[in-house]
Amino acid sequence: QQQSLEPLVVMMPSPGKGHLIPLIEFSKKLTKNHDLGVTIVIPSNDPPTAAETTMVRDINHIFLPPVPLSDLPSTPKVELLISYTIHHSLPSIRRALQSIAYSSRHRITAFVVDLFGTEAFDISSELNIPSYIFFTSTSMFLSFFFQLPHWKATQCESDDSTKLVQIPGCVPIHMEDLADGFKDDEILNAMIQHAKRFRLAQGIIENSFLELEPGTIKELQNVKPGRPPIYPVGPLANMVNDQTKLHGNNNDHECLRWLDEQPCGSVLFVCFGSGGTLSSAQIVELALGLEMSEQRFLWVIKSPNDKVSSGSFFNVNNNILNDPLNFLPKGFVERTKGKGLVVSNWAPQAQVLAHESIGGFLTHCGWNSILESVVNGVSLIAWPLYAEQKMNAVLVTRDMKVGLRPKIGEEGLVEREEIGIVVKMLMEGEEGKKLRHRMKELREAAIEVVGENGSSTKQIEDLALMWKNG
Ligand code: UDP
Repeated sequence: QQQSLEPLVVMMPSPGKGHLIPLIEFSKKLTKNHDLGVTIVIPSNDPPTAAETTMVRDINHIFLPPVPLSDLPSTPKVELLISYTIHHSLPSIRRALQSIAYSSRHRITAFVVDLFGTEAFDISSELNIPSYIFFTSTSMFLSFFFQLPHWKATQCESDDSTKLVQIPGCVPIHMEDLADGFKDDEILNAMIQHAKRFRLAQGIIENSFLELEPGTIKELQNVKPGRPPIYPVGPLANMVNDQTKLHGNNNDHECLRWLDEQPCGSVLFVCFGSGGTLSSAQIVELALGLEMSEQRFLWVIKSPNDKVSSGSFFNVNNNILNDPLNFLPKGFVERTKGKGLVVSNWAPQAQVLAHESIGGFLTHCGWNSILESVVNGVSLIAWPLYAEQKMNAVLVTRDMKVGLRPKIGEEGLVEREEIGIVVKMLMEGEEGKKLRHRMKELREAAIEVVGENGSSTKQIEDLALMWKNG
């Protein structure tokens, strides 16, 4: 009788658009190409924003009741905030899974969570539902995650920030470029708990592909005890279809109309993801650096946060109600008029990166942002802020070789002169040309793997078949 029920996959992203977006893309592939039902269960701290509601409108979804953050310590840490939210959402996750599992229509054949969601495996295992992880970052980070439980004991005592860490199959990384959380005991312990539960998954779905991270993915595909099979299905990025590219869509953002008027490949896009914030002083340096570069730019600006660089995740940002444009240097908007456009808080990044006027991207190195650049062949300036973004910056600049990384000055700021030089180098210099060429090669590879006979398409087919017959 169970077999007569329709198979259904339940996905659960952690809070944050960077987790939600790739799971939506994955869900779309399963529903559209394989006729497999998917429901996304979404934990959060806040009621859904208009952007989130629009994102999930074509997919079955359940927004769980928001978890209040009143008990969180005053110094916010994004990894703890996310883990806390999942932990306190467990009762509502249980209710959601039970109500689907006991329905007379569906049998849940897979429960897919991202890296912070493994605590919910207790629930899926009680209900006899096979559990999977969808890893929303690099294979490099995944590989490091597997080392974590042992790593703490062997490496952590070292204070030497220049010491090199070797992750199998990757370029060596300086300690100072490791994910921030690994230098903070509280976060490290929480991450180790997540990492220990990775072995409980039936498989790990990786948003990457062989040509992007060859050494790491090959190593991860070697069978090892305690390591679930890896399915590289990337790049699952927010894609703009050709129709939208050609004709735009009805709710075109002002920045897309502005881009229509700029020369091909001439504009640097500047955006620090959904959560990234700069300090007030850094906003001023960036503005003046962009001006010094004499290049065209489109900058998505958020109000500053002088305490944390992941300020948009927290309501502690006292400036939230202020117009971010107020924090720009005096006269900047007027002086750069015609050459630059600054938009507040949010731009349709996937559409922007697909626009032919874009010639470079200054990014905080969130993995979705990097994948969106790869599928559009846009080379990068790597400006990592928090979480594992410094590791991603190493991958982009030293391994993939598709980006430049500006140096941080003595005051802890990236100074205007440095910004001016690096932006000019990317947009006009010989080095920039090489990076663009290499990014175009990766773009070709990306198109291939998600094409009809591509390796990522095949992996998704295999998973869909398994989940349909589960
Ligand atoms: N994004 C967007 N507009 C913005 C900022 C972000 O559309 O102004 C999207 C971006 O295209 C990407 C996601 O939000 O898909 C951010 O994910 P990423 O992993 O790059 O960074 P995170 O926000 O998780 O740090």
